[in-house]
Amino acid sequence: MRIDTMKAAVFQGPGQPLTIKDIATPQIGDGEMLVKVRRCGICGTDIHASREGPFMAPPETVFGHEFVGDIVEVGSAVPEGLFAPGDRVTSLPFIGEQTIGLGEISGAYSEYVKVGHELVLKIPESLDDDRGALVEPLAVGLHSVKMAEGVAEKDVLIIGAGPIGLACAIWCRFFGARSVVLSEMSPARLDMARTLGFADFVDPAGDVGAQFEALTGAAPAVQIECVGAPGILQACIERAPNRGVIMGIGVCDHPDEIVPLTAFVKELRIQWAVGYEKEDFQFAIDMMVAGRVDASAMITDVVSLDEAPDAFEALRNPSGQCKVLIDLTR
Ligand SMILES: [Zn+2]
Repeated sequence: MRIDTMKAAVFQGPGQPLTIKDIATPQIGDGEMLVKVRRCGICGTDIHASREGPFMAPPETVFGHEFVGDIVEVGSAVPEGLFAPGDRVTSLPFIGEQTIGLGEISGAYSEYVKVGHELVLKIPESLDDDRGALVEPLAVGLHSVKMAEGVAEKDVLIIGAGPIGLACAIWCRFFGARSVVLSEMSPARLDMARTLGFADFVDPAGDVGAQFEALTGAAPAVQIECVGAPGILQACIERAPNRGVIMGIGVCDHPDEIVPLTAFVKELRIQWAVGYEKEDFQFAIDMMVAGRVDASAMITDVVSLDEAPDAFEALRNPSGQCKVLIDLTR
Protein backbone atom coordinates (compact mmCIF):
# COMPACT_ATOMS: atom_id res chain seq x y z
CA MET A 1 0.00 0.00 0.00
CA ARG A 2 2.61 2.53 1.09
CA ILE A 3 5.19 3.31 -1.56
CA ASP A 4 8.69 4.10 -0.40
CA THR A 5 9.71 6.23 -3.32
CA MET A 6 7.95 8.87 -5.35
CA LYS A 7 8.58 10.95 -8.42
CA ALA A 8 9.58 14.55 -7.85
CA ALA A 9 11.02 17.53 -9.75
CA VAL A 10 14.21 18.26 -7.84
CA PHE A 11 16.28 21.46 -7.75
CA GLN A 12 19.90 20.71 -8.64
CA GLY A 13 21.53 24.09 -8.28
CA PRO A 14 21.49 27.56 -9.84
CA GLY A 15 21.58 27.58 -13.62
CA GLN A 16 20.45 23.97 -13.87
CA PRO A 17 16.96 22.80 -14.74
CA LEU A 18 14.91 20.80 -12.25
CA THR A 19 15.43 17.05 -12.64
CA ILE A 20 12.72 14.41 -12.43
CA LYS A 21 13.91 11.80 -9.94
CA ASP A 22 12.70 9.08 -7.64
CA ILE A 23 13.19 10.21 -4.06
CA ALA A 24 12.08 8.87 -0.69
CA THR A 25 8.41 9.44 0.12
CA PRO A 26 8.19 11.68 3.21
CA GLN A 27 7.85 9.85 6.52
CA ILE A 28 5.18 11.46 8.64
CA GLY A 29 5.53 12.27 12.32
CA ASP A 30 2.75 11.59 14.84
CA GLY A 31 1.04 14.95 14.32
CA GLU A 32 1.52 14.92 10.57
CA MET A 33 -0.35 13.66 7.53
CA LEU A 34 0.70 12.49 4.10
CA VAL A 35 -1.04 14.10 1.14
CA LYS A 36 -1.16 12.72 -2.40
CA VAL A 37 -0.75 15.86 -4.48
CA ARG A 38 -3.32 16.73 -7.14
CA ARG A 39 -2.13 20.20 -8.20
CA CYS A 40 0.75 22.42 -7.27
CA GLY A 41 1.36 25.96 -8.43
CA ILE A 42 4.76 27.18 -9.55
CA CYS A 43 5.44 30.35 -7.58
CA GLY A 44 7.73 33.30 -8.25
CA THR A 45 9.24 32.52 -4.85
CA ASP A 46 10.36 29.14 -6.18
CA ILE A 47 12.01 30.75 -9.20
CA HIS A 48 13.66 33.23 -6.84
CA ALA A 49 14.90 30.42 -4.58
CA SER A 50 16.47 28.68 -7.58
CA ARG A 51 18.77 31.62 -8.26
CA GLU A 52 22.14 32.39 -6.76
CA GLY A 53 21.67 34.77 -3.83
CA PRO A 54 20.64 35.02 -0.19
CA PHE A 55 17.33 33.23 -0.77
CA MET A 56 18.74 30.30 -2.74
CA ALA A 57 17.42 26.92 -1.62
CA PRO A 58 19.94 24.11 -1.11
CA PRO A 59 20.44 21.62 -3.94
CA GLU A 60 18.06 18.62 -3.70
CA THR A 61 15.22 20.90 -2.62
CA VAL A 62 11.78 19.94 -3.88
CA PHE A 63 9.83 23.17 -4.35
CA GLY A 64 6.06 23.50 -4.17
CA HIS A 65 4.03 25.28 -1.49
CA GLU A 66 0.77 26.02 -3.39
CA PHE A 67 -0.88 22.65 -3.41
CA VAL A 68 -4.05 20.67 -3.06
CA GLY A 69 -4.29 16.92 -2.62
CA ASP A 70 -5.86 14.00 -0.83
CA ILE A 71 -4.91 12.79 2.61
CA VAL A 72 -3.60 9.22 2.38
CA GLU A 73 -2.11 8.78 5.83
CA VAL A 74 -2.93 10.34 9.20
CA GLY A 75 -0.42 10.37 12.07
CA SER A 76 -1.37 8.77 15.37
CA ALA A 77 -1.38 12.06 17.29
CA VAL A 78 -3.72 13.90 14.91
CA PRO A 79 -6.87 14.55 16.99
CA GLU A 80 -9.55 11.96 16.29
CA GLY A 81 -12.20 12.99 13.77
CA LEU A 82 -10.32 16.01 12.44
CA PHE A 83 -9.08 14.52 9.18
CA ALA A 84 -9.44 11.20 7.42
CA PRO A 85 -7.85 9.56 4.40
CA GLY A 86 -9.62 10.82 1.29
CA ASP A 87 -10.12 14.38 2.56
CA ARG A 88 -9.07 16.89 -0.07
CA VAL A 89 -6.95 19.56 1.60
CA THR A 90 -4.48 22.35 1.28
CA SER A 91 -2.04 23.55 3.93
CA LEU A 92 -0.05 26.57 4.88
CA PRO A 93 3.49 25.65 3.87
CA PHE A 94 4.82 25.20 7.37
CA ILE A 95 5.19 22.47 9.93
CA GLY A 96 6.12 24.27 13.13
CA GLU A 97 8.90 26.67 12.18
CA GLN A 98 9.96 24.70 9.12
CA THR A 99 8.86 25.58 5.61
CA ILE A 100 7.39 23.14 3.14
CA GLY A 101 8.76 23.45 -0.37
CA LEU A 102 11.57 25.91 0.22
CA GLY A 103 14.36 23.67 1.39
CA GLU A 104 13.41 22.38 4.82
CA ILE A 105 10.53 20.01 4.16
CA SER A 106 10.10 18.49 0.72
CA GLY A 107 7.45 20.36 -1.30
CA ALA A 108 4.69 19.43 -3.69
CA TYR A 109 6.46 19.31 -7.05
CA SER A 110 6.13 15.62 -6.23
CA GLU A 111 3.60 12.85 -5.82
CA TYR A 112 3.35 13.22 -2.04
CA VAL A 113 3.88 15.97 0.48
CA LYS A 114 3.66 15.83 4.25
CA VAL A 115 1.76 18.43 6.27
CA GLY A 116 1.23 19.20 9.95
CA HIS A 117 -2.44 18.94 10.89
CA GLU A 118 -2.62 22.36 12.61
CA LEU A 119 -2.28 24.32 9.38
CA VAL A 120 -4.35 22.08 7.10
CA LEU A 121 -7.68 23.21 5.62
CA LYS A 122 -10.29 21.16 3.84
CA ILE A 123 -11.18 22.11 0.28
CA PRO A 124 -14.97 21.96 -0.15
CA GLU A 125 -16.26 19.80 -2.98
CA SER A 126 -17.49 22.81 -4.95
CA LEU A 127 -13.93 24.07 -5.42
CA ASP A 128 -12.05 22.25 -8.15
CA ASP A 129 -8.40 21.27 -7.86
CA ASP A 130 -7.22 24.26 -9.89
CA ARG A 131 -8.95 26.68 -7.55
CA GLY A 132 -7.62 24.73 -4.59
CA ALA A 133 -4.10 25.45 -5.79
CA LEU A 134 -4.89 29.18 -5.91
CA VAL A 135 -5.72 29.44 -2.22
CA GLU A 136 -2.12 30.20 -1.30
CA PRO A 137 -1.46 32.99 -3.82
CA LEU A 138 -4.86 34.51 -3.01
CA ALA A 139 -3.96 34.39 0.69
CA VAL A 140 -0.73 36.28 -0.04
CA GLY A 141 -2.74 39.04 -1.70
CA LEU A 142 -5.36 39.02 1.04
CA HIS A 143 -2.79 39.34 3.81
CA SER A 144 -1.00 42.16 1.96
CA VAL A 145 -4.20 44.12 1.45
CA LYS A 146 -5.23 43.59 5.09
CA MET A 147 -1.83 44.89 6.20
CA ALA A 148 -2.56 48.14 4.33
CA GLU A 149 -5.24 48.67 7.01
CA GLY A 150 -8.05 49.91 4.86
CA VAL A 151 -8.42 50.24 1.11
CA ALA A 152 -12.16 50.97 1.11
CA GLU A 153 -12.99 54.18 -0.78
CA LYS A 154 -9.29 54.69 -1.51
CA ASP A 155 -7.52 55.07 -4.84
CA VAL A 156 -5.04 52.22 -5.08
CA LEU A 157 -2.05 51.78 -7.35
CA ILE A 158 -0.65 48.29 -7.73
CA ILE A 159 2.82 48.10 -9.20
CA GLY A 160 3.33 44.87 -11.13
CA ALA A 161 0.53 42.67 -12.51
CA GLY A 162 2.04 39.24 -11.92
CA PRO A 163 0.06 36.67 -9.91
CA ILE A 164 0.60 38.47 -6.59
CA GLY A 165 -0.15 41.93 -7.98
CA LEU A 166 -3.33 40.53 -9.49
CA ALA A 167 -4.27 38.80 -6.24
CA CYS A 168 -3.83 42.13 -4.44
CA ALA A 169 -5.96 43.83 -7.09
CA ILE A 170 -8.72 41.25 -6.62
CA TRP A 171 -8.82 41.86 -2.87
CA CYS A 172 -8.65 45.66 -3.21
CA ARG A 173 -11.73 45.46 -5.43
CA PHE A 174 -13.34 43.06 -2.96
CA PHE A 175 -12.75 45.39 -0.02
CA GLY A 176 -14.19 48.39 -1.82
CA ALA A 177 -11.32 50.42 -3.16
CA ARG A 178 -12.60 53.38 -5.17
CA SER A 179 -10.15 52.65 -7.94
CA VAL A 180 -7.66 49.86 -8.61
CA VAL A 181 -5.03 50.90 -11.13
CA LEU A 182 -2.28 48.54 -12.24
CA SER A 183 1.16 49.65 -13.37
CA GLU A 184 2.47 47.13 -15.86
CA MET A 185 4.17 47.07 -19.23
CA SER A 186 3.87 43.42 -20.30
CA PRO A 187 1.04 43.15 -22.86
CA ALA A 188 0.32 39.57 -21.72
CA ARG A 189 -0.03 40.65 -18.10
CA LEU A 190 -2.26 43.56 -19.12
CA ASP A 191 -4.45 41.12 -21.04
CA MET A 192 -4.66 38.89 -17.98
CA ALA A 193 -5.62 41.86 -15.79
CA ARG A 194 -8.37 42.72 -18.30
CA THR A 195 -9.60 39.13 -18.20
CA LEU A 196 -9.89 39.46 -14.43
CA GLY A 197 -12.02 42.57 -14.89
CA PHE A 198 -9.52 45.39 -14.41
CA ALA A 199 -9.55 48.26 -16.86
CA ASP A 200 -7.34 51.01 -15.46
CA PHE A 201 -3.64 50.82 -16.28
CA VAL A 202 -0.63 53.07 -16.24
CA ASP A 203 2.59 52.59 -18.16
CA PRO A 204 5.59 52.36 -15.82
CA ALA A 205 7.80 53.78 -18.57
CA GLY A 206 5.92 57.08 -18.38
CA ASP A 207 4.96 59.43 -15.55
CA VAL A 208 2.98 57.05 -13.37
CA GLY A 209 1.74 59.72 -10.98
CA ALA A 210 0.37 61.89 -13.80
CA GLN A 211 -1.29 58.92 -15.50
CA PHE A 212 -2.81 57.81 -12.21
CA GLU A 213 -4.18 61.27 -11.54
CA ALA A 214 -5.62 61.49 -15.04
CA LEU A 215 -7.50 58.24 -14.40
CA THR A 216 -8.69 58.81 -10.85
CA GLY A 217 -8.45 62.54 -10.21
CA ALA A 218 -6.24 61.92 -7.19
CA ALA A 219 -2.86 60.68 -6.04
CA PRO A 220 -2.63 57.01 -4.97
CA ALA A 221 -3.55 56.85 -1.27
CA VAL A 222 -2.39 53.22 -1.20
CA GLN A 223 0.42 51.84 -3.34
CA ILE A 224 1.18 48.14 -3.35
CA GLU A 225 4.63 47.42 -4.68
CA CYS A 226 4.75 43.89 -6.13
CA VAL A 227 7.88 44.11 -8.27
CA GLY A 228 10.79 44.41 -5.85
CA ALA A 229 13.31 46.39 -7.88
CA PRO A 230 15.51 49.20 -6.59
CA GLY A 231 14.12 52.68 -7.19
CA ILE A 232 10.43 51.79 -7.03
CA LEU A 233 10.07 52.62 -3.34
CA GLN A 234 11.38 56.14 -3.84
CA ALA A 235 9.08 56.63 -6.83
CA CYS A 236 6.16 55.56 -4.59
CA ILE A 237 7.25 58.02 -1.92
CA GLU A 238 7.39 60.84 -4.44
CA ARG A 239 3.93 60.27 -5.90
CA ALA A 240 2.21 59.50 -2.59
CA PRO A 241 -0.25 62.01 -1.12
CA ASN A 242 0.03 63.10 2.51
CA ARG A 243 -0.43 60.15 4.88
CA GLY A 244 -0.31 57.74 1.96
CA VAL A 245 0.43 54.10 2.52
CA ILE A 246 3.10 52.18 0.66
CA MET A 247 3.06 48.40 0.88
CA GLY A 248 6.25 46.47 0.16
CA ILE A 249 5.35 43.04 -1.19
CA GLY A 250 7.89 42.54 -3.98
CA VAL A 251 11.10 40.83 -2.92
CA CYS A 252 14.05 43.19 -3.36
CA ASP A 253 17.34 41.78 -2.09
CA HIS A 254 19.46 44.69 -3.29
CA PRO A 255 20.23 47.86 -1.34
CA ASP A 256 17.72 50.52 -2.27
CA GLU A 257 18.00 54.25 -1.74
CA ILE A 258 15.16 56.41 -0.45
CA VAL A 259 15.01 60.04 0.64
CA PRO A 260 13.40 59.79 4.07
CA LEU A 261 12.66 63.52 4.17
CA THR A 262 10.10 63.19 1.37
CA ALA A 263 8.29 60.44 3.28
CA PHE A 264 8.69 62.35 6.52
CA VAL A 265 7.04 65.57 5.40
CA LYS A 266 4.07 63.63 4.04
CA GLU A 267 3.81 61.39 7.11
CA LEU A 268 3.79 58.32 4.89
CA ARG A 269 3.40 54.81 6.24
CA ILE A 270 5.65 52.22 4.63
CA GLN A 271 4.51 48.75 5.58
CA TRP A 272 6.00 45.41 4.60
CA ALA A 273 3.98 42.26 4.36
CA VAL A 274 4.97 38.65 3.87
CA GLY A 275 3.03 35.41 4.04
CA TYR A 276 -0.35 34.95 5.67
CA GLU A 277 -2.20 33.33 8.52
CA LYS A 278 -4.48 30.33 8.56
CA GLU A 279 -7.55 32.60 8.65
CA ASP A 280 -6.40 34.14 5.34
CA PHE A 281 -6.44 30.69 3.74
CA GLN A 282 -9.90 30.02 5.15
CA PHE A 283 -11.27 33.36 3.99
CA ALA A 284 -9.87 32.83 0.49
CA ILE A 285 -11.54 29.40 0.41
CA ASP A 286 -14.84 30.76 1.74
CA MET A 287 -14.97 33.61 -0.75
CA MET A 288 -14.18 31.30 -3.66
CA VAL A 289 -16.90 28.89 -2.51
CA ALA A 290 -19.33 31.80 -2.25
CA GLY A 291 -18.42 32.81 -5.81
CA ARG A 292 -17.32 36.24 -4.63
CA VAL A 293 -13.71 35.79 -5.67
CA ASP A 294 -12.48 33.89 -8.68
CA ALA A 295 -8.89 33.94 -9.79
CA SER A 296 -9.02 30.84 -11.97
CA ALA A 297 -8.54 32.89 -15.14
CA MET A 298 -4.99 33.46 -13.88
CA ILE A 299 -4.16 29.86 -14.69
CA THR A 300 -2.56 29.94 -18.12
CA ASP A 301 -0.87 26.54 -18.16
CA VAL A 302 -1.38 23.16 -16.53
CA VAL A 303 1.54 20.80 -17.07
CA SER A 304 2.43 17.27 -16.03
CA LEU A 305 5.26 16.63 -13.57
CA ASP A 306 7.47 15.54 -16.47
CA GLU A 307 6.80 18.86 -18.17
CA ALA A 308 7.39 20.86 -14.98
CA PRO A 309 11.16 21.42 -15.45
CA ASP A 310 10.59 23.06 -18.85
CA ALA A 311 7.67 25.10 -17.53
CA PHE A 312 9.83 26.21 -14.60
CA GLU A 313 12.61 27.40 -16.93
CA ALA A 314 10.10 29.19 -19.16
CA LEU A 315 8.86 31.17 -16.14
CA ARG A 316 12.28 32.76 -15.75
CA ASN A 317 11.31 34.93 -18.74
CA PRO A 318 7.52 34.90 -18.64
CA SER A 319 5.76 35.74 -21.85
CA GLY A 320 2.14 34.63 -21.86
CA GLN A 321 2.23 32.67 -18.60
CA CYS A 322 0.64 33.86 -15.41
CA LYS A 323 -0.09 31.03 -12.98
CA VAL A 324 1.33 27.68 -14.04
CA LEU A 325 0.06 24.58 -12.25
CA ILE A 326 1.57 21.12 -12.15
CA ASP A 327 -1.08 18.41 -12.47
CA LEU A 328 0.12 15.40 -10.49
CA THR A 329 -2.87 13.28 -11.47
CA ARG A 330 -1.61 13.00 -15.04
ZN1 LIG B 1 3.60 31.12 -3.50
